[in-house]
Amino acid sequence: MPTIHPLPDILISQIAAGEVVERPAAALKELLENSLDAGATEIRVNLELGGTQLIRVADNGVGIEEAQLNLALARHATSKISSLEDLECVASLGFRGEALASIASIARVRLASRAHGSELAYQIQADGASPSEVQPTALTTGTTIEVRDLFFNTPARRKFLKSAATEYAHCNDVFQRIALARPDVSFSLHHNDRAVQLWREQDMAERISAVLGADFNQAAVNVAETTAGLSVHGMSALPAYSRASRDAQYMFVNGRFVRDKLLAHALKQAYHDILHHDRHPAYCLFLTLDPALVDVNVHPAKTEVRFRDSRAVHQFIYHAINKSLAGRAGQAPAATVQ
Ligand code: ADP
Ligand code: MG
Repeated sequence: MPTIHPLPDILISQIAAGEVVERPAAALKELLENSLDAGATEIRVNLELGGTQLIRVADNGVGIEEAQLNLALARHATSKISSLEDLECVASLGFRGEALASIASIARVRLASRAHGSELAYQIQADGASPSEVQPTALTTGTTIEVRDLFFNTPARRKFLKSAATEYAHCNDVFQRIALARPDVSFSLHHNDRAVQLWREQDMAERISAVLGADFNQAAVNVAETTAGLSVHGMSALPAYSRASRDAQYMFVNGRFVRDKLLAHALKQAYHDILHHDRHPAYCLFLTLDPALVDVNVHPAKTEVRFRDSRAVHQFIYHAINKSLAGRAGQAPAATVQ
């Protein structure tokens, strides 16, 4: 007879890591979201070899108390929710309390932090096993986390890593999406010690232009619509800027980048009359609604959401985009069939 036995903690975290951390970019996303949840206004990212060798995220957020560093790496431990009611209206990007534990089970992690108001900084390290003792370290502000040698102890998963260039491209996508969502935060990116990006705090249009290029802004109309409980703002490109692929579609729900069929469909419909059927609209839109009306606890990676009233959301987005495009779409029709 097969015997049933509980799995060791580390293996449970490694299994969870399979869902949350499929590649360096996924780890980077979790770390950036943690920095934003900590109220950071400045975030610096360093990558080596596309993040496969090193991902370092340094922020100036509230930090973590010495006595809590252990818990930050513990599974199912979070400062962001404590009840089902909290979960049902969660406003932070994180809430599952499993990202750092998952990452620490498949990489060499150093977490250093100086809690707000404290003179002292502390660090903890973990490399696929139980974390080290907490030790004093030097840090001027916030939290710095280093993730080295992703999948060093899970060779089967390591084999799925692509070239450093490909992994870097995925990291860059994540970095751009997060930076788009938060123009009020300064972001910098270094890759292999080379400075790649620096976006200081700016307004939404400036950030969109910095990330997506000035062409996008020039080809786009502003979107700003609000009805009871729903609001959308951002920029949506005229047909001249449409694409053969969906690579310029940025949709954020309450500040979270999402891939959502319902929203994509509403956009497609809004463009229906002005866009050739094999072209895809380009947009960067921020939908805001009461967190209680959207479920973000659908998938561990949190890129999917479920709306309480999906019909109302669909209609709202459709009308908002339709209205913003009305009268402007005829300006550059020729390019739609390029
Ligand atoms: P979650 O974000 O879902 O809470 P994580 O495993 O990502 O879970 O992080 C665990 C906890 O560690 C967080 O709830 C937070 O309290 C703390 N933490 C992680 N990163 C940071 C950071 N950059 N600054 C401050 N606290 C952090
Ligand atoms: Mg998190």
